[in-house]
Amino acid sequence: MKFKNRIRIATLTFMAFFSFLVCSSYSVPIKEPRNLVLILIDGYRWRELFRGADQGLLLNVKFNSGDSAERFKKYWDDELLVRRKKLMPFTWSFIAKHGQLYGNRDLGNFVNVKNPYRISYPGRAEVLSGFVDSSINSNSYPNNSNMNVLEFLNGKKLYQNRVASFACWGATGRCLNKMNSKMLINVPWENVPGDNLTEAETLANEIQQYAPRTFGEGERLDFEVYALAKSYIKAKHPKVIYIDFGDPDEYAHEGKYENYLDDIHNLDDMIGKLWKMMQEDEFYKGKTTFFIVPDHGRGAGDQWPDHGAGVDHSNETWFMAMGPGIPAKGEIKTKTQVFQDQYAKTIAALLGFDYIAPKPVGEIIESLTNKHRD
Ligand SMILES: [Zn+2]
Repeated sequence: MKFKNRIRIATLTFMAFFSFLVCSSYSVPIKEPRNLVLILIDGYRWRELFRGADQGLLLNVKFNSGDSAERFKKYWDDELLVRRKKLMPFTWSFIAKHGQLYGNRDLGNFVNVKNPYRISYPGRAEVLSGFVDSSINSNSYPNNSNMNVLEFLNGKKLYQNRVASFACWGATGRCLNKMNSKMLINVPWENVPGDNLTEAETLANEIQQYAPRTFGEGERLDFEVYALAKSYIKAKHPKVIYIDFGDPDEYAHEGKYENYLDDIHNLDDMIGKLWKMMQEDEFYKGKTTFFIVPDHGRGAGDQWPDHGAGVDHSNETWFMAMGPGIPAKGEIKTKTQVFQDQYAKTIAALLGFDYIAPKPVGEIIESLTNKHRD
């Protein structure tokens, strides 16, 4: 064999092997298509997730309505590991065992917002599009025409018309380009659509009409979003679901620390119950990933109610994920840095797709895939 031919064969073999490696990681459609639930918790801090309730804030009368003794009993313990589990029992007893949690800055594990504004609409846009568009600089920004990972997945044959979003906030509809989208994007105070609704869907629709407008006309409460999403998932089996929660941010802005804690305690329970329901359903069992993120952080100490470009620490965040193919590493204790523009490409990769958008997107978080080896 001529030397030139040998090189050619060696090159072809290498290329074939390389293609196999690449394809086996992301590009080949997974035989049994996976499902994914993306959950966003607006403005929840890494501090409470990893440290539990903050004693200084619990005892500060400025941030509590007077019955803090009860909350102290409910959420406080001198031992950090016990304390954070009291606040988020499902997260620390289940996700920490079966998934991965990022953002404990006390251990040098960093997750950050990349956009400079550190507020809700730009935060959601970064999470969903996988890049920062600096022109998206306010919560009143109009319709966002940028590509997002949900629209991208809805464009795939296996996922077409199987992607649904349920949001606490009207602006999330603008962020997802609801006006020009064929996906189901349910915002306040829309009902779950359809003629043949289940009893649970009908009840969820009814309840939201009776619920108080606690945060005004533009935002509904997390329990309503939960009821609408959960009943729809059970009845219609969407493959990709985006659930957009917001009470923690609203209570924080109002300086109500007790309510902020109560809501995250409830959200932790809702996420647990949703996971349980889906694991009892053959359609989702063993084939569904949960990916949970905030949209920005918030200040520390007396500044905890606020966030934004001028508030220190409000670019500090966290995320967690659990599902098939995600190694169960629990709380990540190594010094790594993740930015929230990396979620979109990672979410697509977990479903077997390579997400690309007109602008460069954040890289896949390799430690969430089986491809990664320590
Ligand atoms: Zn927010």
